[in-house]
Amino acid sequence: MSGGSWVPVPEGSDFSLHNLPYGIFRRAGEAARIGVAIGDQVLDLDALWREGLLDGGRKLPEGVFAHGSLNRFLSLGRPAWQSVRAGVLELLDGHSHAIRDVPGLAERALIERSEAEMLLPVEIGDFVDFYSSLEHASNMGAMLRPGGEPLLPNWRHLPVGYHGRAGSVVVSGTPVVRPWGQIVEDDGPPGFGPTGMLDFELEVGFIAGAPSAFGASVPIEQAPEHIFGCVLVNDWSARDIQRWENAPLGPFLGKSFMTSISPWVVTLDALAPYFVPGPAQTPPVLDYLRSDRDWAIDLDLEVTLASSTMIERDMDAEVISRTNFRTLYWNIAQQLAHVTSNGARLRTGDLFASGTVSGPGPRAYGSMIELTRSGERPIVLPDGSERTWLKDGDTIAMHGVCGHAEGVPPVGFGKVRGAVVPAP
Ligand code: CA
Repeated sequence: MSGGSWVPVPEGSDFSLHNLPYGIFRRAGEAARIGVAIGDQVLDLDALWREGLLDGGRKLPEGVFAHGSLNRFLSLGRPAWQSVRAGVLELLDGHSHAIRDVPGLAERALIERSEAEMLLPVEIGDFVDFYSSLEHASNMGAMLRPGGEPLLPNWRHLPVGYHGRAGSVVVSGTPVVRPWGQIVEDDGPPGFGPTGMLDFELEVGFIAGAPSAFGASVPIEQAPEHIFGCVLVNDWSARDIQRWENAPLGPFLGKSFMTSISPWVVTLDALAPYFVPGPAQTPPVLDYLRSDRDWAIDLDLEVTLASSTMIERDMDAEVISRTNFRTLYWNIAQQLAHVTSNGARLRTGDLFASGTVSGPGPRAYGSMIELTRSGERPIVLPDGSERTWLKDGDTIAMHGVCGHAEGVPPVGFGKVRGAVVPAP
């Protein structure tokens, strides 16, 4: 690992020289394009490419970084991702003068992050949401089937999931409009109204880069050829709508109104030092789900809630959940191998979310339904108000950082944030 960058990286920044996550940014009046976060700035890859500084022996397609999504770049596959990462690392290294030697380039290619509007980083292909946390599945099972076995018989044999709505995936900061839907109260007939049980779900998603062929499954050991990187995901959920519509085919409109993702995609290469052994899987999984590599990610996750009153009074947001992604029972490589095991193809930009990440213990639960035991135990906020479900004006922010690998600076995800606005 090289030393620091000549671009200042403030202490505690999520975006050190080791991270270099990719996103789509736009400055007022300019076209959207691909950037890499470093410290408090965005490095404009298109500006570097135009100067011939990013080709590194590998000819990249004309204008590959001048796009409003990462898809074109992602479709080039792992060798191109690695060559560009190596090039950016070299250019930002403290010893390099390549950017500074081109008159005016440093000023043009480095943009204050505060001046950059971040857009949805990828044009989402398909969206799959898993249910891979043992604690979450057990908590939900206990609430849905009191007195019964919390896990259904399939759960320890395959990563359970469903296909979600790709068109409702939005970038962090997009307002969360309280959705309307069919709701049943007190076993009466359904009515139609705004959800009264709005919830968040703390998740981590991975984005498919290189596609796979129709009819060909992707063996688990080939996962690194296809997974470009990870983002934080908030799978907003309306529990009352969900409860009524869920049987027998599963989640539908109670989930499809909106899903938020963080704007910076953290690459698998940046995460490499943070891959650790996952939880023991009992019974042993089938061969196609077995890998010799460690695939759990040591990623600390935190959720905060701030009411509109707290924001008006300039109070700190309240931390309502803390957990770690390494507790996830099914890992991202297993999810990928399973999803393609029937020959379904991967497309560039497909998003695969983990399902709610809940750790052991009630402060580590990744949703309001678990934190409040379905509304029985309200959360008390510093402004004195109570929450069972989210109210209009509430802001949920999720942050993730890998910070425990020896000799490697922390690799952070930034935040995924959303504020609830009243139903139309
Ligand atoms: Ca979910």
